[in-house]
Amino acid sequence: MSDKNKEYDVVVIGAGPAGYVCAIRCSQLGMKVACVDSWVNAKGKPTLGGTCLNVGCIPSKALLDSSHHVQFIKENANEHGIKVGNLEVDVPAMQKRKDKVVQILTGGVASLLKKNKVDMYSAMASFTSQQTIKVQNAADQLSEILHAKHIVIASGSIPIDIPISKVDNKTILDSTGALALQEVPKRLGIIGAGVIGLEMGSVWNRLGSDVVVLEAMPDFLPTADKTITKEAHKILNKQGLDIRLNSLVKNVTVNNGKALIKYETDGEEKSLEVDKLIVAVGRKANTEGLDLKSANVKTDENGFIETNNQWQTSSQNVYAIGDVIGGAMLAHKGSEEGIAVAELLAGQHAVMNHNSIPWVIYTWPEIAWAGKTEQECKDSGIKYRIGTFPFMALGRARAMGDTEGMFKIIADKDSDRILGVHLLGPNASELISEAVVAMESDITTEDLARTIHAHPSLAEGMHEAALAVDERAVHI
Ligand code: FAD
Ligand code: NAD
Repeated sequence: MSDKNKEYDVVVIGAGPAGYVCAIRCSQLGMKVACVDSWVNAKGKPTLGGTCLNVGCIPSKALLDSSHHVQFIKENANEHGIKVGNLEVDVPAMQKRKDKVVQILTGGVASLLKKNKVDMYSAMASFTSQQTIKVQNAADQLSEILHAKHIVIASGSIPIDIPISKVDNKTILDSTGALALQEVPKRLGIIGAGVIGLEMGSVWNRLGSDVVVLEAMPDFLPTADKTITKEAHKILNKQGLDIRLNSLVKNVTVNNGKALIKYETDGEEKSLEVDKLIVAVGRKANTEGLDLKSANVKTDENGFIETNNQWQTSSQNVYAIGDVIGGAMLAHKGSEEGIAVAELLAGQHAVMNHNSIPWVIYTWPEIAWAGKTEQECKDSGIKYRIGTFPFMALGRARAMGDTEGMFKIIADKDSDRILGVHLLGPNASELISEAVVAMESDITTEDLARTIHAHPSLAEGMHEAALAVDERAVHI
């Protein structure tokens, strides 16, 4: 006989942005819900929010914001008439502030789950069958069995480790180590010019490191629009991020706390010595310890859990959402899937438009996009028109002293519907939301061009780019 208190409508494994949002929505819809999460912070204390809140989105943005202030003082304060004496950067204080931001937000998730009457288990979950989960608390070694009508796996992802450059978190760091440095490395190497490489590279470059980013591929950010990445490459290079494309790392050795990297660029052997090396070559599904076999849950050849378009796994009543199923490994994608699955379990209809998921890279200027790139339109034979507009021509951007970058809208030639929007510029992370709403509402660039935008604002660039699709931009 099972303990009635341990019988649930839904058990969610993982309290990252996919899992905790799913658990809350299930509870809002009247289900009895438990959420199991095994995360412990550096002090060994259980905390919620998963990768995103503890070692991902939030701490990286806290450091990006702090380092952006430093960059402003170094490069721009003077032209605003602001004189700053000796600039001193206190990295431990910056890290303390970051930790405080994380602490407030992870505490907020705990309160939200409590308020929504979700039973929280700070423990490791593993399947014992398709409808039973063993939860084992690492601290007291106590384990118990939870019974559930439905189980949602939201166990997230972990960094990919490469054998030639094993993370020791002393000299060779993963993203978590890169977020915790207590002093600015003089020379910093990064393997991978992906999202983490560019964001972490920006933080430490702004704080004074000489940064070299080694990227194996001939291009970086392959899913972004090429017009934008070309321009971003120039700007980031000018800032001091030395991004070396076509550079394949062959071997890394650590000696006296320094990493010696041997790599090959276009067939030529090269070497580079750095004080710290960050490995940022992607993330993989975190399924270790779940004992998926006991529930008959299948994974694909890359280790991601296989689901159908309703997030159902190969096992009846078991669903999977967020990073563990792959696709766009983004917090907001996981959260939206969490809501969709909760609504499905409540018998509602759930759809999610993957085409309009926004991507943002928090360099400065920021890079943001949603929808198709120009290359994708070309490759699929879609006839399109393009409207572009530079930030330089915006009064607000001039007033801010932030004029680098551009807006690019791609529209279907016949229907004028918006196919993709690509931004490089200040606050692109905020500006992209207008594009997402426009695409979700299926409106045309003509509709956008006839929508009144406040003056002076950066959003006027979206308006002008929409006008530019029809070759009638005014301020250029
Ligand atoms: P996770 O957040 O990884 O959460 C999974 C949770 O499940 C964890 O708490 C884990 O401990 C727990 N768990 C795993 N297995 C078990 C088990 N067996 N039992 C119990 N608990 C278990 N995304 C953005 O959208 N914007 C950003 O700006 C951004 N910045 C990032 C910066 C960095 C440095 C990194 C590393 C990632 C960033 N991401 C960003 C990606 C984002 O963090 C992930 O997409 C997001 O966290 C995925 O959410 P999730 O809920 O699927 O998984
Ligand atoms: P990524 O997939 O974005 O980039 C990895 C890069 O490493 C690629 O450009 C790849 O070509 C390169 N690479 C792979 N192996 C290499 C090698 N041996 N030598 C040199 N280069 C190599 O992965 P990431 O930067 O680790 O980030 C992981 C995920 O985390 C991202 O896909 C993203 O979904 C998420 N994330 C999102 C944000 C954000 O939304 N702002 C920020 C950080 C992370």
